[in-house]
Amino acid sequence: MLIVQKYGGTSVGSVERIKAVAQRIGQTVAQGHQCVVVVSAMGHTTDNLIELAKQISSRPSAREMDMLLTTGEQVSIALLSMALQEQGHAAVSMTGWQAGIRTEAVHGKARIEAIDTDKIRRLLDAGNIVIVAGFQGVTETGEITTLGRGGSDTTAVALAAALKADLCEIYTDVTGVFTTDPRIVPEARKLPVVSYDEMLEMAILGAGVLHPRSVECAKLYGVKLVVRSSFTDETGTIIQEVSPVEQSLVVTGIAFDDDVVKVQVDGLPSDSGALARLFTLLAEQRINVDVIVQSQRSENEINLAFSIAEDDRVRAEETLAARRESLGFRHVAFEAGLAKVSIVGAGMMTNPGVAAMCFRYLSEAGIPIKMVTTSEIKVSCVIPRDRMEEAVNRLHNAFGLADESPSS
Ligand code: ADP
Ligand code: ASP
Ligand code: MG
Repeated sequence: MLIVQKYGGTSVGSVERIKAVAQRIGQTVAQGHQCVVVVSAMGHTTDNLIELAKQISSRPSAREMDMLLTTGEQVSIALLSMALQEQGHAAVSMTGWQAGIRTEAVHGKARIEAIDTDKIRRLLDAGNIVIVAGFQGVTETGEITTLGRGGSDTTAVALAAALKADLCEIYTDVTGVFTTDPRIVPEARKLPVVSYDEMLEMAILGAGVLHPRSVECAKLYGVKLVVRSSFTDETGTIIQEVSPVEQSLVVTGIAFDDDVVKVQVDGLPSDSGALARLFTLLAEQRINVDVIVQSQRSENEINLAFSIAEDDRVRAEETLAARRESLGFRHVAFEAGLAKVSIVGAGMMTNPGVAAMCFRYLSEAGIPIKMVTTSEIKVSCVIPRDRMEEAVNRLHNAFGLADESPSS
């Protein structure tokens, strides 16, 4: 079999850990498999590099940030390759560009466009273990890019798809995908199987265990994906296509995102052109808009509330202030310190009333709901950040996620 394995930051966080990872890869190879390995930067390297940049500039150029951050992964591929060689294996490390990972020309959150796998194939066929730097690629014109925080998962899945690998294993510091983050809810339960769609929602809604793009890519190309621990041999979670009939749980998991800013724009002209202009402007500034709530203010005016991430707040403030007249709204206000808590489950499609239950559980605890958004398989509520952990625990409990039995 051809297996792509990915090891995250904690899994390669020290020399001892790198040696342990090399052992694990050695075991896979000893079973007769070919192995491509994707690694993240060691431990908190990426955070530390970001911190260094902040000490130099409050607005470092996106190009130089990518140049800086990609060094983290370059350290771990070389060290892991050395560790494998030390254990008697043939191993070769490759940066993203050497591995042929081409991305769009966007710094900081580029998407992979194509992978030229010739070089990796040749190295594999010559009997090497190939170690590829996660989270990075190169544009058509040779610029180095990164895929966004947590992007090494996407490197691994995209490589598995391009190489038509039999399996993609994501090794991390938890034993699988849980009903919610086990750090916040100790009773959270490991899920043996999760569908691509539910996993995608969970990832988009903040479950940091997998980069959203990696799940999207796995679904698109039918990559068999497993999340498991690099610290134990426990079986992990399989992410695959699951037919609705097999899904017994109404709510599968709870995700949360503690980085939410609410933007309230009041008195916008009620023609649809104004809405289009406002959101086009934000998109041009690459400001990601999430929950959007619109209400009628008067015959000719609407009020609008939407959410963005803290990182985009200053740019949004500047953009909206500069364009208040041309957009024609009366007033804008920003409310930071919010969080979004979401319940996810494919079973919701056929079970009306889940949203009502969710609102009731939160209101019984006196947790104010600022904004709401729903889809067929999720309900999200924006609430104060300081009530987030309480809300997650309450909902986890109320929907019976800690028990083995399906929720009602
Ligand atoms: P890595 O460095 O291996 O990529 P991450 O920190 O990116 O690891 O992802 C693993 C973390 O994801 C876990 O330590 C856990 O705190 C967090 N997490 C959030 N939601 C979930 C969930 N539903 N199941 C498992 N882990 C989760
Ligand atoms: N090192 C990068 C990060 O910390 C990418 C990754 O770990 O997946 O975000
Ligand atoms: Mg990660």
